[in-house]
Amino acid sequence: MGALSRRIQGRVREDVARLEPYDPNFTPCDINLSANENTYGMPEQVRVAIDEAIAATPTNRYPDPMSNDLRDQIATWHGVRRENVCVGNGGDELLFNFFLAFGGPGKRLVDCPPTFTVYDIYSKMVGTSVVRCWRDPDTFELDIDALLRMAGTADMVIVTSPNNPTGNVIAAADVARLCEACPGMVMIDEAYAEFADDGISCERLLATYDNLIVLHTYSKAFCLAGVRMGYVLAAPDVIEVLGAVRQPYTVDVFAQAAAQVVTSMRGVFRPTIETIRKERRRLAEGLAAIEGVRVWPSQGNFLLVRMPYAAIVRARLRDKRSILVRDFSSSPGLEDCLRITVGTPRENDELLDAVASILKEVV
Ligand SMILES: *Cc1c(COP(=O)(O)O)cnc(C)c1O
Repeated sequence: MGALSRRIQGRVREDVARLEPYDPNFTPCDINLSANENTYGMPEQVRVAIDEAIAATPTNRYPDPMSNDLRDQIATWHGVRRENVCVGNGGDELLFNFFLAFGGPGKRLVDCPPTFTVYDIYSKMVGTSVVRCWRDPDTFELDIDALLRMAGTADMVIVTSPNNPTGNVIAAADVARLCEACPGMVMIDEAYAEFADDGISCERLLATYDNLIVLHTYSKAFCLAGVRMGYVLAAPDVIEVLGAVRQPYTVDVFAQAAAQVVTSMRGVFRPTIETIRKERRRLAEGLAAIEGVRVWPSQGNFLLVRMPYAAIVRARLRDKRSILVRDFSSSPGLEDCLRITVGTPRENDELLDAVASILKEVV
């Protein structure tokens, strides 16, 4: 935050005065590979169906507060019951509600950096202390033994799988051990699960562990980042708790209508997701072939890369080639790292060409 005036400083909650808001570091560019969106865009037939559904949606009545029709669809999709599903205004709202319900002063969160920084921000907002179980500095794999130990005294644990920004996954067997070790709640953030190999989701453990919450979003694979729609799967009483802390009507009628169409037509996204996985491999190989560039394996729709002068390369990509990627070079553990969303073949070609030529200039 900028400097606060003395008057406001004296009025605002002390811990809020110290908050640094989430900054996606956005600059408009021709090619945006910075926010892990699906850059292929909404498939035309789905877009047409969404437009029709929205046109038929009345706006004078409040939305169904719990989005029950959508919950039923999601439940059928995932083989659970409506009582196991809560939807939210993006996955981010559900994360916040998770902190509101299970965090707070005196509570402890364990997370595994480098990871999604929103967890840190929400823990500060609700006054939850954070215990960090750092990933291996070279491979970014989890230190499972340390994590199990820390989880033993945690109120909340969050593991992101595939992890943003490093692309690693956690094995379901390790999630099971985590749920057993942790007296509190275990959230597995699967925002990128659709891009991972089959079988990585820990969803099947929901039947066994009532302290497990699995987070999903429509923002990444399903082209609805602009609409704001996410959901969690968990035991019915966990869903009730999340329902109790949510603000009424955050999921509006248009978002419900769009998500229902996308859910019923989700098979249409499969070819694009397959293409993104193929392009991920091609982009990774292309980047690794550029001298000085290290690429980590990723199960998401993005790649973490390290290169000399990463911040300068990123600025030149933006200013000279109008390509936006995400700069992590000043984040702890991610020195000289950039995160690049896997784009369309043309976007990836341009990115590869630009990185190669900019690196020749700067090194
Ligand atoms: C994108 C993302 C989310 C959720 O995003 P929403 O757009 O709020 O649904 C959650 N977790 C991670 C790790 C993400 O990258």
